[in-house]
Amino acid sequence: MELRRWLQPPRRLVVLFLLIAVVLVTATSVLAWRFLEQDRALARQRIQDRLERSADVITAALGRGAAEARETLTRLSSLASAELPTAASRWAGTLDSDGLLVILTPDGVQGFPPGRLLYRPMPEPREAPAAVFAAGEVLEFRRRDLAGAAAAYRALATSRDTAVRAGALLRMARVERKAGQSARALESYTRLSGLGMAPVSGAPASLVGRHARLSILREMGRTAEAEREAATLADELRAGTWPLTRASYRFYSEELAGYALPPLDSAGRARLERAEAIAYAVSELRARWIGADEERRQDGSEVVTWRAHPVLLLWRGTATRGAALVAGPGQVEHGWLAVLRPTLDREQVTFLLADASGNGLIGSIPAMAGPLVTRTTTETRLPWTLRVASGSSGADLAQYAARRRMVTLVLAGLTLLAVVGLYAAIRGVSRELEAARLQSEFVAAVSHELRTPLTALRQFTELLASDRVGLEEQRRRYYGVMQRETDRLQRLVEGLLDFGRMEAGALEFHRMPVAVGKLVRDVALEFQQQMAEDGWTVELADHVPESTRVYADAEAIGRSLWNLLDNAAKYSPDHRTVWVEVRREDGQVAIAVRDRGIGISAAERATIFDKFVRGASAGKVGAKGTGIGLAMVRHIVGAHEGTVTVDSEPGMGSTFTLRLPVEE
Ligand code: ADP
Repeated sequence: MELRRWLQPPRRLVVLFLLIAVVLVTATSVLAWRFLEQDRALARQRIQDRLERSADVITAALGRGAAEARETLTRLSSLASAELPTAASRWAGTLDSDGLLVILTPDGVQGFPPGRLLYRPMPEPREAPAAVFAAGEVLEFRRRDLAGAAAAYRALATSRDTAVRAGALLRMARVERKAGQSARALESYTRLSGLGMAPVSGAPASLVGRHARLSILREMGRTAEAEREAATLADELRAGTWPLTRASYRFYSEELAGYALPPLDSAGRARLERAEAIAYAVSELRARWIGADEERRQDGSEVVTWRAHPVLLLWRGTATRGAALVAGPGQVEHGWLAVLRPTLDREQVTFLLADASGNGLIGSIPAMAGPLVTRTTTETRLPWTLRVASGSSGADLAQYAARRRMVTLVLAGLTLLAVVGLYAAIRGVSRELEAARLQSEFVAAVSHELRTPLTALRQFTELLASDRVGLEEQRRRYYGVMQRETDRLQRLVEGLLDFGRMEAGALEFHRMPVAVGKLVRDVALEFQQQMAEDGWTVELADHVPESTRVYADAEAIGRSLWNLLDNAAKYSPDHRTVWVEVRREDGQVAIAVRDRGIGISAAERATIFDKFVRGASAGKVGAKGTGIGLAMVRHIVGAHEGTVTVDSEPGMGSTFTLRLPVEE
């Protein structure tokens, strides 16, 4: 029962509309969501494809670089010895500064381009046999005859064999030092350093001589000179000037570190570390090649890492000669992968080449990288694993996000539209329903209004017709009542007719200058006369001079005022006085009708000027009416460029004020 009442229109309509809206919005949302899901999958797929493509390209480039290198190495390993140096130099010239071609023989190694090896495996250099210096050493150590020993060495220092000369000078300087002849010793070391590559004491004479000079200089207090020379020497050592074994290289670099060398900048340090890594890799290579069986000698590849510097070794060879490429990251990156740069940049990918234990060799992958594509050692055919990631975590994903934002926005808009539409429809429908209700109430009210005077008229007519009213006075009273009722009827019908004309837009006004004071007085007087019988008084306060005029249709304004007076009386069940005041307000004249009746609530004050609208309390006090009176008043006053306002408190009475422009 409750539910059915609740579901009456417009409730039923509201529910129906709501249902439709919810279904529509839900369906659209589901569709949009599915669309977005697919879109995202597509974006992911596109990224994946891009990564796969890039991984393939990188793998191919690596394979190509390695294959070309292997081919050249094979050729070099079997080339005639006479042609080897030229061919090797030519190919080595194409390598990056981080790459080195190494020719391996059972005797040692040879690097191309030359001068890049800080140290290398090599056979013991053929120094002068110790026996040559035996006589001098007997004098020096057994007899402690320093002068004799010096003489013996000096004689040898003119030998035609540079190795002998070098050994003699070294010993001579030693003796001179022991004898406290620093200047002489310095001189001898200088001579020694002039002997170039002559092997002495496990290293080239020039290095040994110059190094020995440093300590003497220091002993002599010539520190600045010593440090300067040490710096030059260190530079040459780092440039791979001398063929040294690893042990000698270590020895001399540590020795030189004892002199205040100018510190290396970061680039210099990096260069040195790479060079050391290469040298280390070459010794490893040689050890592996020497120790390898036939098959391994023929073809091999490996990564060796020295202090986090990985170096790739690729070699080919025979039992007697091997050719190897020793490649640091630079060689691979600039030599093999440089051609890919534009492609990789375009595809917005980053990659990482790592060795078996996961040490990064080339490139890097951001920690937050999304999907990865991996190529294993078998796929790269090198001892490296390749990982490729999207560099720009995907322009595709950004596009997807933009689309998602748009779809969400459209959905929100759609929902809003549905809500607004729903609201408008419900409002429209309920307005129509309300209007229909008011109209039918109006019809009922009009019928009722008509019936009351008609009933009275019929009764009195019957009474009078039946001749049963004997007294003249009584008869006159009856006639009076009949006249009042007829007046009422006429006013009612004329009011309805006027309303009809107003609705049709055909209500005409015959305006002319009217003395407003007199007009109000006349209407008030007429109203007072008609209502006097029921005990009503109208108190008029007229504050305008007689000459005050308005340009108006006197009859229409009079009817409006009558309406207000009639309402004041109708809605004042307890106080039988109506106050009327006429006053000037700037360029206007205000006619206020005040009562001390039931008053009007704030909510009703907003609507009572609409047609057919009757206040809720109107019915309660049993006041009859059709709800068109105030609508007519507003229309008429509006047509006279005037206004009508209400000021009221429930229970305290109301004041309706008409304002019309004064005709000056
Ligand atoms: P009605 O035929 O109902 O009087 P009106 O258009 O003249 O129609 O008035 C509309 C409504 O305004 C009334 O039903 C009543 O509720 C309210 N109203 C008008 N005048 C007064 C008044 N003087 N005191 C209280 N209520 C009033």
